[in-house]
This record gives sequence, C-alpha cells and structure tokens, in this order.
Amino acid sequence: MNRIGHIYPSQQAIFVDRGITRANLLLKEWNGEEVASFGLVGLPLSKTSISASGAAAAPLHIRKALASYTTYAIEEEIDLQKQRITDFGDVKMHVTDLVECHHRIESSLAKLYRLHPSVTPIILGGDHSISCPSIKAFAETKGRVGVIQFDAHHDLRNLEDGGPSNGTPFRGLLESGAIQGEDLIQIGLRNFSNGQPYHQYAKDQGIRLWTMRDIYQHSMPNIIEQSLNELEQKVDTIYISVDMDVLDQAFAPGCPAIGPGGLDSHSLLQAIYQLAQHSKVKGLDIVEIDPSLDIRDMTSRVAAHVILQFVLGQVKAGHS
Ligand code: CA
Repeated sequence: MNRIGHIYPSQQAIFVDRGITRANLLLKEWNGEEVASFGLVGLPLSKTSISASGAAAAPLHIRKALASYTTYAIEEEIDLQKQRITDFGDVKMHVTDLVECHHRIESSLAKLYRLHPSVTPIILGGDHSISCPSIKAFAETKGRVGVIQFDAHHDLRNLEDGGPSNGTPFRGLLESGAIQGEDLIQIGLRNFSNGQPYHQYAKDQGIRLWTMRDIYQHSMPNIIEQSLNELEQKVDTIYISVDMDVLDQAFAPGCPAIGPGGLDSHSLLQAIYQLAQHSKVKGLDIVEIDPSLDIRDMTSRVAAHVILQFVLGQVKAGHS
C-alpha cells in the first residue's frame, strides 16, 4: 500500500486549540504495527468508469475535508477526540490493467482483514467498481455478507459488454457468488436513471429495492430498521456502500452522475448513524466523487461527514 504522508502531522499544532479538536486528527497514519478500531483505505481507481471520471482523486480530498469538522457531536454530547482511525494509505493501482487493479484491491483488503480481523474498514473510492473487489474481500474473511447500497442506480449491468466497471459491481458480486440477491438492499433508486432489463434482473435475484418515492412514503428510519431486521436474521456481517449520487444534485455536485429528485444529505447522514449502531454493521465504502467537478468540496465534505456519523454510531452503541 502506498501511504499518504503529507497531510500529517503538521496540522496538529494548527488545529488543536482551546479544547476543540479537528476531525482530521482522528486519522493516524499506520506505523506498521498498531491498528485502531477503524481502518481507512483509499482506492484511487476511476478508469473503470463508464463515462469520464476523476474519482481517483477523491480519497485525498475526503481526508482533507475532515479538517472542516470538529470531533464533537452536539446531538449526542459525545466527543470523538479520543477515537482513532488508522490510515492504511491507498492501494497502488496498475496504470493500464484494470482487472489487475481489482485483484490488488481484493487481495490487499483480504490480507488486511486476515491480519487485523477486528478492524472496521472505511473504504474511500474511487468509482463504484471498487465495491466488487472490496466486498469480495469482506465475504472471503467475514462469512455471509449483507449489503445496504445507497445509490440512484442498480449497478447491475452485465459484465460481457464492457467488462467490470462502475456499472457492474453488484452484478459481479452476485455472479461470483460472493453475495446473494436476498442479502442486497438498494436504497434511493430514481426514475430515468436505470434500464428495465436491470430492474427485472434485480427483481429476479430477490434484491430488496427502495425507490425515492418509497423513501418519502415509508420514511428513511423505517426503511433502515426494516433492512436491518431482514438482514440480521440471515447474515454474519453487514457492509454499507454509499454511492454519493444517491444524493440530489443540489447536495452532491461533485458526482459524475448528478440528477434531481434524490436524497437530501441529512437523510443520508441520519441513515448512516442509525445503521452504524447495529452490531453487525462492520464496513463502509464511499464512492463516485469527482473532486474536479465539485463546488467548494461540497461532496467530499458530505463524505467526510458520513465517516464521522459512522464512527459516532459505532461509538454510541459501544462497538469501538
Ligand atoms: Ca453506483
């Protein structure tokens, strides 16, 4: 793995002041030995995108965006300042061989999980293609995996026409047997963002589908509660995959596939907090942010906030 060293540690002196801790100080560069409860890994891969994407730059931007926040959660009256997230750096990608990139992601993460089985991974893409090798590594080492995917899209395109891309990760997981259709829940699907054949494929596979209209009719907290109730009976562990384009374009201008009628950021942040409190939720990825398209790092800042809500939920529930 290729370490990101230049955001440490000079900011420490600048940002620790008068009892306020900046959230970037939760990140602790891996020293090769000690590992905290949470482990952050960057997967800077976006050549696998169907349309042009600069999402490979997102891991660095999201790390930097943590400095926008303090560690104090006023609603819970919990300060995360004593928590640590071990930053394992980025997995080095091959320049031209995209299948090799996926192999490197899967083998690096599987090795990490075997060596440090108690670490809860926070994975930063990259485009959504990374979720296929990431969840494969999870399934190899942690048993039957349930996946809760926040996304405007199914990401169930076939693998024959264009190879593994950001349109195929969940097809790849199903076809490889890494996960089962009944263990996949897709939340935030939108009109005019998907094709009928893939919707039919999703139904045939038994995937649980929640559209944006469903969210407004049933409410996000109820959907999350039902999703956890369904999965906890069947799976050993639950992985959350957040495609930032689940958000309305007003909240996530830095996504390559922006659109209207999506989720608001508060609903996403509360959903992550709710999920993170469940004892079987043990992994998170955040994908599809192209910092070159973003406005004032708005989308990377949502991602950083998602990380904090995830850590907060786990701490609140006593999982770390
Ligand atoms: Ca996606």
